[in-house]
Amino acid sequence: MTIIDNYRKYTSRSLSLYREARSVMPYGVSSNYRYWEPYPIYLVKGKGSRVWDVDGNEYIDFNMGFGVLEVGHSHPRIVEEVRRAVEDSTILGFEYEKSVELAKIICNRYNVDMVRFSSTGTEATMHAIRIARAYTKRKKIIKFEGHYHGSHDQLLINVNPMRLESRVPTSPGIPEETLSNTLVADWNDYEGFERLVRVHGNDVAAVIMEPVAMNMGLIPADLDFLKGVFDLARDYGFLVIFDEVKTGGKFYSGASGYYGLKPDLVTLGKAIAGGLPLSVVAGRRDVLGVVGPGRVAHGGTFNANPLSVRVAIVTLRDILTEGAFYYMNSLSEELQKGYEDIADDLDIDLIVNRWGVSGTIIPAEIPPKNYKEIVRNTDFKTYSLYFYSMLTQKIIPMAYQEQWTISIAHTSEDIRNHIEKAYDTFKLIKS
Ligand code: PLP
Repeated sequence: MTIIDNYRKYTSRSLSLYREARSVMPYGVSSNYRYWEPYPIYLVKGKGSRVWDVDGNEYIDFNMGFGVLEVGHSHPRIVEEVRRAVEDSTILGFEYEKSVELAKIICNRYNVDMVRFSSTGTEATMHAIRIARAYTKRKKIIKFEGHYHGSHDQLLINVNPMRLESRVPTSPGIPEETLSNTLVADWNDYEGFERLVRVHGNDVAAVIMEPVAMNMGLIPADLDFLKGVFDLARDYGFLVIFDEVKTGGKFYSGASGYYGLKPDLVTLGKAIAGGLPLSVVAGRRDVLGVVGPGRVAHGGTFNANPLSVRVAIVTLRDILTEGAFYYMNSLSEELQKGYEDIADDLDIDLIVNRWGVSGTIIPAEIPPKNYKEIVRNTDFKTYSLYFYSMLTQKIIPMAYQEQWTISIAHTSEDIRNHIEKAYDTFKLIKS
């Protein structure tokens, strides 16, 4: 029986639900990133480090809501806070008292002067580039190939192209004029970035990046590259935006804290509200200062809603503490070591990259520095077999071609289990 036959065998209810779902939702899903061939699994509930699907299968979850749930599924303290918040109303319409407390926690933890709240990472990056354009009175934005900043039009170019060309829109439906002000550079390639800046630098409002690229596996920035980008931004008068929607929750004070750098604008989302939707555009006082009535637009009915704000306070203040990160990092390191041992024992080409509570594996010989090197050097067939084989062994090893996320609910036992299944998987693939 092949790995895919096995997958079909134990997910028959997911298959029937998928058929039903396709009649009312394109591809049967609410986000393209949740679809995979031959059909996705449909989940019912989660608790701690586990999730259950409609067939009753129990999985150890290392996707954790695409990096949202470092607090684990249904953390009792969060369940309690949600209950209390609902009793006091989930949305009050006007400004909410506790949003000030949360703003201060975020300013302190992420070393930013001011914040504005919204609900999704997409909104945060959309606002960040509007603010940067208004502040600098320039139009162009530089992004990096393979980096993802959400689902709005302006940055949906060269996100995950399988053709290696300089400009590949990520979706039909985006007018060329919308993308004409978005320039694309290669990650960790200072010379290429400098060449682009020499031509366009005086028209550039900002460069936006995932400081540790996490939508193409996991590729940290070289510190020298980052410093070079900051220097060029200063010389040419454009802003640096760290999109920390993912990284902000993977290290206690995000990538800016890790690298010891202070970008002009920072976006946060995902993990900061313990599983509820909340995002942030934050940064320098003078830059955020352009936002306001009659000035730069920033709005949203659900911005800083009481439910998300209260849960974010509990998450950042009481649950995702430095001690919690110490624990999650040590488990993440164990998992990294486990994969490195598998590569050694079975003598297979496997790059293992880790940053904080997240890591990934790339079946390749040479560690990739950027998206083009991933496409050229990765053995995608092996990756895909690995992924399905892990699912059939009831481990969701990571988000597909992204990375694992360790939560405070994971245990050493979960890690051992993951490594054992991964060992069996690669042994099978090799044979
Ligand atoms: N920025 C980064 C780095 C992301 O990884 C994502 C989502 O994966 C986003 C922005 C968009 O966030 P959301 O899906 O909440 O709109």
